[in-house]
Amino acid sequence: MNERSLEFLKKEFKWYYYYKDDEIEEPKRIEEREFGYMPFSKGMIRHLSLKSRGELIALLLREVPAGVYCSCSYYLSPHLPMGEKGWKGSDLIFDIDADGLNSPCKTEHDRWICKNCGFNAFGKRPELCPNCNSLKIEEISWSCDLCMNKAKEEVLKLLEILEEDFGLSRKEIQIYFSGNMGYHIQVQSPLIEELNQDGRNEIVDYLSCKGLNIEKLGFVRGLRYDEILQRLSNLDYYGWGRRLLKFFENNYNGNPTIKLAEMLSKEGYKKFSKALKDLFDQLSVKIDREVTIDLHRIFRLPGSLHQRSGLIKKKVNDLDYFDPYDDTCPFNDEPVKIRISFSPKFRLKGKEFGPYKNETLTLPKYACLFLVARGVAEVEG
Ligand SMILES: [Zn+2]
Ligand SMILES: [Zn+2]
Repeated sequence: MNERSLEFLKKEFKWYYYYKDDEIEEPKRIEEREFGYMPFSKGMIRHLSLKSRGELIALLLREVPAGVYCSCSYYLSPHLPMGEKGWKGSDLIFDIDADGLNSPCKTEHDRWICKNCGFNAFGKRPELCPNCNSLKIEEISWSCDLCMNKAKEEVLKLLEILEEDFGLSRKEIQIYFSGNMGYHIQVQSPLIEELNQDGRNEIVDYLSCKGLNIEKLGFVRGLRYDEILQRLSNLDYYGWGRRLLKFFENNYNGNPTIKLAEMLSKEGYKKFSKALKDLFDQLSVKIDREVTIDLHRIFRLPGSLHQRSGLIKKKVNDLDYFDPYDDTCPFNDEPVKIRISFSPKFRLKGKEFGPYKNETLTLPKYACLFLVARGVAEVEG
């Protein structure tokens, strides 16, 4: 990114933190949290402790960070080195990223660029730049309505399980648009606060159906049709068993237990268990395990800007109606001239843009900021 583009981003981020500070959501129990921030073109600064919302806003205005973060954990002394902080508990966090869902649209909008010569193309990155043999290749992933809707479906699956299987209340669960290509789900509840890393690992196993034993659901090897049917009918289904029955109820006619018993006796145990495994893969929730089990991580602060998009990490009140490309862009439509190396089609604030390739254009400021933050455009003089 050139100096002029960097100044453009800094100036607009500063405007945001100055005039839109009511968007910033300070965390509960702020004095027990660790804060950190990423300055533009410098490394992360961590282990900060803040006493109040006022101190947080002052930090944002003073530093105008590219990114600002806050711990999911509560500590006795958040400003001390990690081993000395005194862990008290953590919120439970889930990260659902459109980039990780492998939607077919990825090949249409993901791209790589050689940082040495600027050569770029769609699709998966090569080892070496075919133009200059440089190894310095950056992948630029993108998101569209299709993959963001897929991410939304994963959020809905997660909410259902957290409420139905874990007994959490909807009021204890906050959903945020991550500011870039996905959603963060944050659970604040005394039920899970003191759960250690192993406990959180088990939650992820459960959500992703890892180690799910189908014999425990009644599908026992070597039984006759009438034995299977009797076993399935007598089971008191909950959790994944109940979810499986619900899936069959919604997708097939007739009694789901009979349907499953018929399938098992017709296809044989091996084929049936493989089909069931594929189905559970489909029904499981696609979350980033590392994010959920890491108690020392700091997360983007709600209401702050994402440096790779210029969009707000925003609380989602109604997921059905939430539009990540409409409700999250705070900048105005003043004309700005930029040089775009490339961009797939994208939509912001109800307007369609692109695709672009090697062109200089004057576009509304919010679209320019998005492209510059993405690293695919530079501000022209
Ligand atoms: Zn190159
Ligand atoms: Zn997509």
